[in-house]
Amino acid sequence: MDRREFLLGIAAGTTLPIVAGCRTTGTAVGGKSPSIRPPRFQPITFPGMEPKPDFWKVRPNEIIEICERAKKCSRKEVICHTPLGYPVYALFYGDFSEPPPQSNWSAGSSSRTYRSYYGDRKDGVQTFLFLAGIHGAEQECVAAAMNLVQMLETGRDFRGRTDAELLKLIGQYRFIVVPCVNMDGRSISPDHLRGLNFEDFRRASQGYWKDGSLIGWRGSKCWFPLPLDKVAYPGGYPNSEGFNIQHDACPGNIRTAEARAILQLAERWRVDAVLNGHSYEWAPSVLCPSAIALPQNVERELDIRQRTNRALVAAGLRATEPQRGKAGDGFTINVPLALACGALVLTLECSVAYDKPIKGEMRPTRQYTFDEMMEPPFVVLREYLADGLERPFLIRGDEKEKGD
Ligand SMILES: [Zn+2]
Repeated sequence: MDRREFLLGIAAGTTLPIVAGCRTTGTAVGGKSPSIRPPRFQPITFPGMEPKPDFWKVRPNEIIEICERAKKCSRKEVICHTPLGYPVYALFYGDFSEPPPQSNWSAGSSSRTYRSYYGDRKDGVQTFLFLAGIHGAEQECVAAAMNLVQMLETGRDFRGRTDAELLKLIGQYRFIVVPCVNMDGRSISPDHLRGLNFEDFRRASQGYWKDGSLIGWRGSKCWFPLPLDKVAYPGGYPNSEGFNIQHDACPGNIRTAEARAILQLAERWRVDAVLNGHSYEWAPSVLCPSAIALPQNVERELDIRQRTNRALVAAGLRATEPQRGKAGDGFTINVPLALACGALVLTLECSVAYDKPIKGEMRPTRQYTFDEMMEPPFVVLREYLADGLERPFLIRGDEKEKGD
């Protein structure tokens, strides 16, 4: 299928039930949307920062406008509203017309056949979920997601570029993109963190206490939620109630609407593989699977990690390939995501503008351009999606029925 055929296919998809069964058609849930409340904390600013380029669409109003405008997707949902009232969009590309699963993944995977949960998926088409902006201060995957949506909608991204290979790959999947999960954090964050020193990067990301001291990356995790009455600025990391959505992962006690919505989204559509897009202060990298990844998925996740990181090196976005590693990179929402639907789940860390030496001096070894900051999700998606076509991500739906 070439790009034209693919785009025609997507255009044809607009006849799919964009209204029927949708909780929204791109305006408001049930015709009623909560109004957006002003944030408790003013957006942080840093003097002298360069303006963002026009293709860098990461402001909440830009995200809403682009999602509202999307027409080629077969389905569009506001999966939740944030505590401030921002809509969190999911855009669906492909056929999402099937009824809900008759069983959940936990029961279905132990039943006579995985089809109890998985259903009879036409031609075995797999479902891929790209999540961006769980941490609102980390803009790179949000910028990439918005450019990807623009490419899926018009054939070209906001730079006027196309990516025939990626479009073709996406066309062979059911593809869901959530361009910005943490709209609250995004609403008080700068457009980008390029050119900031490490201290200001931390200040913008995880915030600072009333005495001016940094909350810090690990420090922010001492609290759940962050005590907002003690902070001068909470950073764009948590949502407006101080919850770090990436760590809203306690079964039975999910605290945020955002985490609940993405878990339900993954379960409802029987997602096979997830890319969870973040940013940090080093060269871009796909991280090791979570400490409690599903055992049957770990080797495959490590294979894909190796493949995608190699591609980041080949693309000139990092100097060396990291070790293969092993499962054990924290306990995050990636764990309940895998438990919700059995999916492979990998986290991509883009670089917030520079590559800082892990040890030694703080001076960055390299500054990335805006194009380079946004490129890793495209590189990783190409490899991740290609891998799933060479061999299905999960074995389910086509095995022999098991006896009682
Ligand atoms: Zn993050």
